Amino acid sequence: MLTVDEALAEILRSVRPLPAVCTSLGDALGLVLAEEVISETDSPPFDKSLMDGYAIRTTDVVDGAATLKVIEEITAGFVPTKTLGPGEATRIMTGAPIPGGADAVVRIEETEFDADSGTVQLRSSSLAAGANLMRRGTAMKWGEGVLPVGRELRPQELGALAEMGQHEVAVIRRPSVAVLATGDELVPIHQTPDHGQIRNSNETMLAAQIRRSGGEPVCLGIARDEQSHLREKISVGLQSDVLVLSGGVSAGKLDLVPAELEAVGVRQIFHKVHIKPGKPVWFGVLDPSREDSSTAETRRRYVFGLPGNPVSSMVCFELFARSAIRRLMGLEEAAPRPVRARLGEEYLARGDRPTYHPARLDWNDAGPVVCPVNWHGSADLRATVKANAMALFPAGDAKYAAGEILDVYRWD
Ligand code: AMP
Ligand code: MG
Repeated sequence: MLTVDEALAEILRSVRPLPAVCTSLGDALGLVLAEEVISETDSPPFDKSLMDGYAIRTTDVVDGAATLKVIEEITAGFVPTKTLGPGEATRIMTGAPIPGGADAVVRIEETEFDADSGTVQLRSSSLAAGANLMRRGTAMKWGEGVLPVGRELRPQELGALAEMGQHEVAVIRRPSVAVLATGDELVPIHQTPDHGQIRNSNETMLAAQIRRSGGEPVCLGIARDEQSHLREKISVGLQSDVLVLSGGVSAGKLDLVPAELEAVGVRQIFHKVHIKPGKPVWFGVLDPSREDSSTAETRRRYVFGLPGNPVSSMVCFELFARSAIRRLMGLEEAAPRPVRARLGEEYLARGDRPTYHPARLDWNDAGPVVCPVNWHGSADLRATVKANAMALFPAGDAKYAAGEILDVYRWD
């Protein structure tokens, strides 16, 4: 049986990033750049004032003082029409272009305007050429490489692209991820379950996890624990980049998922991981067949069979399916990265496998602190509502003292 790290390594080895598409900036948050971005503008595009005040010539100023004739007023968005001569100043607002001849801006707080004479008196303690203005191209020059291939687009990258006027960008596209819940006991969430039945809560949860990971969920409803129905639903699911199934991967009489996946050509990469919850988790890939190679279906598809118990599904998704989605999107850091946190209270851990325990992670003055929440195992989804992370307890029964350091994986 693989360890979690070995399973993750198998996933990351199998998954190849998706092709690039052109998308508008409004849809690009969280996506990865597929092309280097070269600036086609200078920033700022003109020498501009950083303050409200007066544009002046520093040669006119002696010991921080001068009386200057005000020849013009420029607000942001307008262009100066006059060049400063000796003894002249222009009233200027933040963001407005600096007039010719000026080499500094004096802040309004360091000036006094006399309306009768149309002059301004300066009393500036420290004034050097270049003060309170920004020269064209200081922040970014035309032709300069600004964003590299592989960069994840955050709000600031999107802002920089907008500043450059690049309203469309080449990015790796979002993967489509189908969700298929299996189980004769399941009913749709708007239906009242009969005795022995439960609502298909995993579909809603997994779709949200897919979205949070950057994928585009495609919900396929419920497959009965019956060969032909399951196979029909699986074939629809395989039209997406990733198919995530819940249920049917354990050793029960009607756990048909691994056999049905293999029957349609999905090659098993692993089945079962040394983990709690979620031991029966299954992963496989479907390579395009030769007949497909002339069509659009030339990409590899990935399939996760998650155990049906809700916390098993949730935990296995966060560790395994999320990593695949992130790798498909071209993200550098695809696997979950732990926070090293101090245990907030004594804890008695039991288990023959490494356990990902729902927990609350908070920060206090001394850094991250984690407290496991009360949890009744893989069917207790309620416990996860009180948690924002999972704390990893290594295999074995052990008493942990408050203050011991654990690896914790955040959910948000
Ligand atoms: P399985 O992995 O198919 O053996 O399912 C284990 C248990 O998980 C089932 O008995 C259900 O109680 C629960 N379960 C399975 N599928 C779902 C689902 N889609 N939503 C909520 N609970 C589920
Ligand atoms: Mg089942």
